[in-house]
Amino acid sequence: MSLKYQILARKYRPQTFKEVIGQESIVKTIKNSIKKSRVAHAYLFSGTRGTGKTTLARLFAKALNCKNLTNDFDPCNECKSCLEITASRSLDVIEIDGASNRGIDDIRQINDTIGYASSNTYKIYIIDEVHMLTKEAFNALLKTLEEPPENIKFFFATTEPHKVLPTIISRCQRFELKRITHGLIVEKLKDISDDQKKQIDEDALHLIAHFSEGSLRDAESLLDQLFCYSDEKITLDYVNNALGFIDKDYFFELDKNIYESNLKFAFEFTQKITSSGKDISYVVKELLMHFRNLLSLKLDESSLDYLSETIRKKYISQQSLYTNEMLFYILDEITKASIFYKNSFNSIHLETLILKIIKSKNLVSIDTLIKRLVKLEKDLQGSAPSIKNEVKEEAKEFFPPPSQKNEPLKIKEENKQVFSEKTDNSYEKIDFSISDSSSTDNNAAVKDNIKVEEKIIDSINSKNTEEEKEIDSPSLKKNETILKDQSHFDTLIRFTQIELEGMQKN
Ligand SMILES: [Zn+2]
Repeated sequence: MSLKYQILARKYRPQTFKEVIGQESIVKTIKNSIKKSRVAHAYLFSGTRGTGKTTLARLFAKALNCKNLTNDFDPCNECKSCLEITASRSLDVIEIDGASNRGIDDIRQINDTIGYASSNTYKIYIIDEVHMLTKEAFNALLKTLEEPPENIKFFFATTEPHKVLPTIISRCQRFELKRITHGLIVEKLKDISDDQKKQIDEDALHLIAHFSEGSLRDAESLLDQLFCYSDEKITLDYVNNALGFIDKDYFFELDKNIYESNLKFAFEFTQKITSSGKDISYVVKELLMHFRNLLSLKLDESSLDYLSETIRKKYISQQSLYTNEMLFYILDEITKASIFYKNSFNSIHLETLILKIIKSKNLVSIDTLIKRLVKLEKDLQGSAPSIKNEVKEEAKEFFPPPSQKNEPLKIKEENKQVFSEKTDNSYEKIDFSISDSSSTDNNAAVKDNIKVEEKIIDSINSKNTEEEKEIDSPSLKKNETILKDQSHFDTLIRFTQIELEGMQKN
């Protein structure tokens, strides 16, 4: 037996376009560009980890240099070039890790070797994690990208395309790789397990696919780990134990306790989680997913078809324990808590969160509250006249009747005179002082204010520009500014008063 072990992700890496899963439109575009001989100078493959960026770049490179392309434009995997590229020892396809070769000198080396490309093959540079290059390296690269020789191609791969300079991106054709769907990952894992002659439960495959979040490489690595763990048949429990996942039964038990309003369970639940040594942030994420699944099934019975049948059935039976409003509330609480605590989530925070969730059973829904409010409103409308009078009384208290009801904005000669005297002490003639407003006798104070406010309105009406200058002059004292503000406020009160009177008359 050979001691040389090849990891699953590498062993089952696609060697033809046919084997690539989940990226059909990109594969089609690549094949067409080869077919029509319209291959661009540079391509940018972006997407989350483990979706096949470098795999596609390598396949593209292989197809470009293959001497016996199949009718379907797949590389033959038999010619010298194909074999060399598969074994990563081709001199024409150079793979550079942008994370460890990020400086200007590394890029200069590329620029220096470009001239040595042979004329009958393509020289292809695959730069992985290209966003890690320094700004200087990018600029050096840009020079080459502007006018590369005909047989030089650049394939860039990145998980963070927003960090790549726009001037680089604009010179590339761009491929955005999708996350691999849950179903496709399960299928691929099943094929690998069969090929490896390993027995594994369907539920276990679903759990691995769920945990790898659309990254096929992650899923393959997890499967690899499980195969090393034991030679027995791999079950769901086995996966939970081996990889430290949370058993879904924890959450189903929580459902039952929420239904029974058993607050005590919050402590039991947290204790179980902490003693198992699981990361609390991860538990909260799974908790969120649990309630999301319940809501999803509640809204659409046919959803969650990617879950294994056993788990799905369990979810269907549990969702009847909740109302939609409860699930909205719970999801909102978990989301808020996870944003607030981020990575500092501890057991007390988890306990509080679970307590809140269990208590949500007793919450009155917004719908019920609105219904009650509408009913209350209707009841009140039945006794509307008395309410109207109450409002009138309240308004009177706030806005006592003015002294001269019939001529509220009449300009008084005497006040005009006050403002036309243009003396520094002209304001002193107005019977107003700040202390009045703080008087305990509110009515008296308000009456005084009304007097002043009438004078102010008069002054506004008289509109003398010279007197405006007077007000702006620095000789006026601070309390006059206060007077101005106060008068503005009083004017507003006065206008409101007039409006109210008008309304009462009508
Ligand atoms: Zn070939």
